[in-house]
Amino acid sequence: MTPMPTEDIPLQASTSATEMAPEETFDVVIVGAGPAGGQCGRVLAQQGYRVLLIERFRDFYRNNFSSGGTPLETLRRFDLPETVVGSWWRQLEIVTSQKHGRWTSTQTQGAVLDFARLRQFLADEVTRLGGTVWMGCRYVSHHETDGGVVITLKDNLGQRQRVVQAQVLVDATGPARAVMEPGQLGKKDANLLTGTGIEYLIRVDDDTYQRCAESLVFLLGHRWIPRGYSWVFPMGDGQLKVGAGVVNRAHQVVATVEPLKYYVELLIRDYLQPSHYEVLDVHGETLRYRLGLRDRYADGRVIAIGDTVSTVNFLGGEGIRHAMVSAEIAQRFIVERLKGTRTDFSGYRDAMHRQFLAPWTISERLALKKYLADSDRLVDKVVTYLAPFSLEEVVAILFDYRFEKISKGLGAYLRRRVRSVLRWPYRWVRRWFSRPSSPTPAPGNPPEG
Ligand SMILES: Cc1cc2nc3c(=O)[nH]c(=O)nc-3n(C[C@H](O)[C@H](O)[C@H](O)COP(=O)(O)OP(=O)(O)OC[C@H]3O[C@@H](n4cnc5c(N)ncnc54)[C@H](O)[C@@H]3O)c2cc1C
Repeated sequence: MTPMPTEDIPLQASTSATEMAPEETFDVVIVGAGPAGGQCGRVLAQQGYRVLLIERFRDFYRNNFSSGGTPLETLRRFDLPETVVGSWWRQLEIVTSQKHGRWTSTQTQGAVLDFARLRQFLADEVTRLGGTVWMGCRYVSHHETDGGVVITLKDNLGQRQRVVQAQVLVDATGPARAVMEPGQLGKKDANLLTGTGIEYLIRVDDDTYQRCAESLVFLLGHRWIPRGYSWVFPMGDGQLKVGAGVVNRAHQVVATVEPLKYYVELLIRDYLQPSHYEVLDVHGETLRYRLGLRDRYADGRVIAIGDTVSTVNFLGGEGIRHAMVSAEIAQRFIVERLKGTRTDFSGYRDAMHRQFLAPWTISERLALKKYLADSDRLVDKVVTYLAPFSLEEVVAILFDYRFEKISKGLGAYLRRRVRSVLRWPYRWVRRWFSRPSSPTPAPGNPPEG
C-alpha cells in the first residue's frame, strides 16, 4: 500500500469527551469530505439543514489519489462546473498482451476530473449554502444520548479536542470506515477484497500528449500487469495520469508479481515511449470492497455512504459517481429522520441494494475471474468480444454495467469463428464441383485458396 501522508498530531492530555459539553450543535455531522461526504453536505445544506462537514486532511491536494475518469452523466446529474474538469475524452483504448482495441466517437463521452478541485468545489458549495466545513479535523469517537449523538473530533491544526452534537452522524470516510468499523483496518475479513492503486502525474512532450489527449487507455494482461490493470488518462496542459492497480490476492496462473511502481514505469517506457517526461506527483490509495455488499449501512443515528459501503465498482474501479449517488439515496432517509417522519434508518440498506447489488455482484465475479484467474489468451479476448461495438455501446457496458450486451459481442465472435472454420472446406467443395473437368486432387494435396 502507498504510504498515506499523515496529518495526525498527538492529542494533548485532555478531559474525556463524555465530560466535555458540546461546543456546537448541528443537524448533521458528516465525517469525510470525499465525493460522497461533499455531495451529502451539499444537498442537505441546500435544504436549509445545519451541516458540519469534516475532513482529516488540511487541503485536498494531500490525498489527491483518484484518477477521476467518469462518463458525462456525472457532470450533468450532479450539476458540476467545468472548473472541476481536467480534460474530456471521446475515445477508449484497451491494450492487452497481444491485442489493441480502439473505439472512437465524434461526441465527447466523459471527463477526467481534477479530484482535488472536485472535492474543493463540493466543500465550497456546503459553505456557500450555509453549512460549515472543518479541514484538518479527524473523527475520534461518538456516543448516543437521549437528545442525539455526541461526537469527539481532533483538530489537527489547532491540536485540540472538539466536541459537537448532532441528530445524525454520517460515515463518509471511504475505505477507512472510521465511524462504522473503528479499529478494524488490517483485521482479517474473508469478505473484504482490497485493491491498491498508485498513480504518477507526469508532464510529457507534446507529441506524446497529443496521442493521448482525448483517450482513456486501459492496459490489461500478463505482459502489462497481472492481477489488475494500468491506465493512461489525459489531464490537460501536457499532463497525463499514469497508474497501476492490483487486487491484493494471489493469481491462479501468474506466480510472481512485481511492485506497482514497476508496472507504471513499464507502461511509460514500453507503451507511452515519451521523448521525455517529468514526474509531478505520486499518489495512491487502497480500496476496500466487501463482497456481496455485506457492509453495515446504519447503526442507531449513524448512516454510511460511499466507499464505506462499497459503492466503488470493483471491476473498473469507478467510484466517484456511485459515491455521489449513494449520498443522494441516504439524504432522503436523513431528511425524513430530521423531520421526525422516521425513527430509524430501516429500509436504507434495501434502497442501496436496489441500486447496486445486481450489477456489483456480476462485476465482482468478472473482476475475480479477469484479474486473478484468466490465462493471458482469455484476457486478449476482452478486445475480441468488444470489437463489434461502437464506443457508445462499450461505454454502456463498462460504465452503465449493461453486461447483457456482452453476449451480443460473444455471439458475433462465435459466428465469425464458425464462419472461418467452415470457410476452407466450403471453398474446397465449391471449387471441386465447379471444375468438372479438373483432375481429382491427390490425397494430401492442399486445397486451393
Ligand atoms: C488509484 C485510484 C484511482 C481511482 N480512479 C477512479 C476513476 O478514475 N474514476 C472514478 O470514478 N473513481 C476512481 N477511483 C475510486 C474513487 O476515487 C472512490 O471510489 C471515491 O473517491 C469514493 O468516494 P468516497 O467519498 O466514498 O470516499 P473517499 O474519496 O475515500 O473520501 C473519504 C474521505 O474521508 C476522509 N477521512 C477518512 N477517515 C477520516 C477521519 N477519521 N476523520 C475525518 N476524515 C476522514 C479521507 O481523508 C477522505 O478524504 C479511484 C480510486 C483509486 C484508489
